[in-house]
Amino acid sequence: MVAPGFLAIGSGPAGVSAAETFRGRHPHIPVRILSADPALPYAKPPLSKEFLDGGHIDLDLHSAGWFRRHGIDLLLGVTVEHIDVDAQEVITRGGAHYPYWHLVLAPGSCAVPLTVPGGHRAQPLRTFGDAVALKMAARYAASAVVIGGGLVGCEAASCLTALGVATTVVVPESVPLQRRFGVDVGKRVAEMLADAGVTVVTSTTVTAVGETEVTLASGATVDADVVLAATGVRPDIRLADDAGLATRQGRVVVDEHMRTSVRNVYAAGDVTIAHNVAAGRPVVAEHWRDAVQQGRVAGLTAAGQPAIWGKVPGFTCRIGAFTLSYRGWGAGYDTATLTDRAGGFSVVYRAGGRVVGTLDVRSSPAS
Ligand SMILES: Cc1cc2nc3c(=O)[nH]c(=O)nc-3n(C[C@H](O)[C@H](O)[C@H](O)COP(=O)(O)OP(=O)(O)OC[C@H]3O[C@@H](n4cnc5c(N)ncnc54)[C@H](O)[C@@H]3O)c2cc1C
Repeated sequence: MVAPGFLAIGSGPAGVSAAETFRGRHPHIPVRILSADPALPYAKPPLSKEFLDGGHIDLDLHSAGWFRRHGIDLLLGVTVEHIDVDAQEVITRGGAHYPYWHLVLAPGSCAVPLTVPGGHRAQPLRTFGDAVALKMAARYAASAVVIGGGLVGCEAASCLTALGVATTVVVPESVPLQRRFGVDVGKRVAEMLADAGVTVVTSTTVTAVGETEVTLASGATVDADVVLAATGVRPDIRLADDAGLATRQGRVVVDEHMRTSVRNVYAAGDVTIAHNVAAGRPVVAEHWRDAVQQGRVAGLTAAGQPAIWGKVPGFTCRIGAFTLSYRGWGAGYDTATLTDRAGGFSVVYRAGGRVVGTLDVRSSPAS
């Protein structure tokens, strides 16, 4: 039996930043990360951007030596199957038991499965392994279909086109990114994609995935040597549910210190609905920077230091020749005011007369 200490489930930004932060405050207590992902912790945002259409780039958050030097025991390719909150230990798929004093649950999200005939043929884009597989498949492909007009779908479609693959993005809504940014911005995103060479097909769904084509609801077919399922994600609350942690809207409920409803168990990142002190209410933030910040708050709280989550969530993404930067609460809005300016535009989202989000869109410098 290993010694108890600090334990993080997940080697994404939330788990790594929690472990790193705790280690920085307590040099002698065992710190351990258990992760189902076999790869050394890496940056995910570039997977649908410069990693996909570019050359070699270093994605590592830290080297293996860095984890060793900082006394963080990184166990990769290890899936936790159960948390025993009474015994304060986690049990892995292989049956190993790891006791903890402080546990940070950071399992992120899992892909929403594509439940159409042949859906298993569509590739996901969630992990480093997925991105390598997609990049390799694109190398030998003449055509691709991206299913889903969300951020990852739009980014990946423009990258596949940049690789010389004739790419179609199939969007169920009337424009891409409609639910996130509204129809007016969505129309402009469709133009950005078209300018990048992507064929945008809207207001329809894929009903079947074949060997070399997909079928649309109309019965029409689109050539597809490669099919990417960018059909969205949902927080992975299986461990939390099984352990009896409080959840709401399919997410783990945490306070502003990232404490769950169970003693000595914290949660951070995509899996949470967390109280944000600036918003004065629970907020969902499924972005890289927010996962890092929540992980840091969880690590500090576990270390017995004061910490609260109060930053405004946000992200930056790249579609074709444009960079989109959003800051805001991501929830609903009543009005969206769009202002054009040289090389781009900005949007202010308001609800009840108050600003709840801003979007800045500018053409990226040519690389
Ligand atoms: C292709 C792509 C592009 C993105 N681009 C952007 C972007 O431009 N900007 C932005 O802000 N965000 C972006 N995101 C989202 C961002 O990466 C996530 O919000 C962030 O990674 C969430 O961090 P996390 O630590 O909560 O979860 P994750 O990064 O998903 O990490 C979860 C970890 O938990 C592990 N795990 C899960 N279950 C178990 C288990 N039972 N046992 C052990 N380990 C487990 C997983 O293997 C993984 O290591 C992108 C995501 C993807 C996939």
